[in-house]
Amino acid sequence: MNTVLVADPLCETHNPGPGHPEQPQRFRAVMDALEAAGLTAKLTRLEPRDATLDDLALVHTRSYLALAQREIHAGTDQLSTGDTQVDIHSWAAAQRAAGSALAAIDAVCTGHAQRAFCVVRPPGHHASADRGMGFCIVNNIALAARHAQQRHGIGKVLIVDWDVHHGNGTQDIFYPDGSVFFCSTHQSPWYPGTGMKDETGTGAGLGTTMNFPLPAGSGRAEVLGALETKLLAAMEKFRPELVLISAGFDSRHRDPLGQFTLTDEDFTDLTKLVRKIADDHAEGRVVSLLEGGYSLRGLAAATTAHATALL
Ligand SMILES: [Zn+2]
Repeated sequence: MNTVLVADPLCETHNPGPGHPEQPQRFRAVMDALEAAGLTAKLTRLEPRDATLDDLALVHTRSYLALAQREIHAGTDQLSTGDTQVDIHSWAAAQRAAGSALAAIDAVCTGHAQRAFCVVRPPGHHASADRGMGFCIVNNIALAARHAQQRHGIGKVLIVDWDVHHGNGTQDIFYPDGSVFFCSTHQSPWYPGTGMKDETGTGAGLGTTMNFPLPAGSGRAEVLGALETKLLAAMEKFRPELVLISAGFDSRHRDPLGQFTLTDEDFTDLTKLVRKIADDHAEGRVVSLLEGGYSLRGLAAATTAHATALL
């Protein structure tokens, strides 16, 4: 079965302002690299839709959605909830990014595709139910998980987040929820300051949050090692029916916003490891969503390795 690519040019229009690392050129850098590597011909292109307010309300409060939409349309340059710079195009881009995740889930959960890679921005993993922050407006990966559960009858979902920053928004949304397993490797101490080892979930969700805070300079041994030794074993018990990746590439060596040392080959092997979990438990279903990655050259190389390994 095929791997689909979801990449809508509307995601390029969101502009956080001059000099901002989460720049529109990130989208073009990824697409040019995939094209140059011959991957756009091999990946089946899937057209996204816009996530509606009802879709977004699967993971966000109606009051936060109204606030973010109102502020963006009023021309603000930063959400009042946190450090997310926006422009007049940001709401439309966020709806399309989230809708890209929905389209990918629809394709993979109906058997029209085996795996999907979504080139989306703004990123999502720092956005919690009632708060945009950290360059994120809506939480694309959380929405993907909930949409799969509520519209496609998927029970258990694994989210692997290898962005250099902790996916605090995703963790918050699923912290009390035992049906979504959230596993994050991230630099610590580092933005946003969460993701300690003892944050493991609460109530019914106790044990389904797994954090690996790692010091600056960590790379293959620490990140891949953590997933190979701890996550694989945990998945033998959890047995996910769908696997999602918060694919941040700011954990690559020489990223301006992180100090990890992962190489493109490491991203290939991380992708293969996630595929193995999906093959073992989830009928091979993998949906990957772009999160961070702020060196344009690094992002281009790492996403090429990732997409090649997904194919
Ligand atoms: Zn990041």
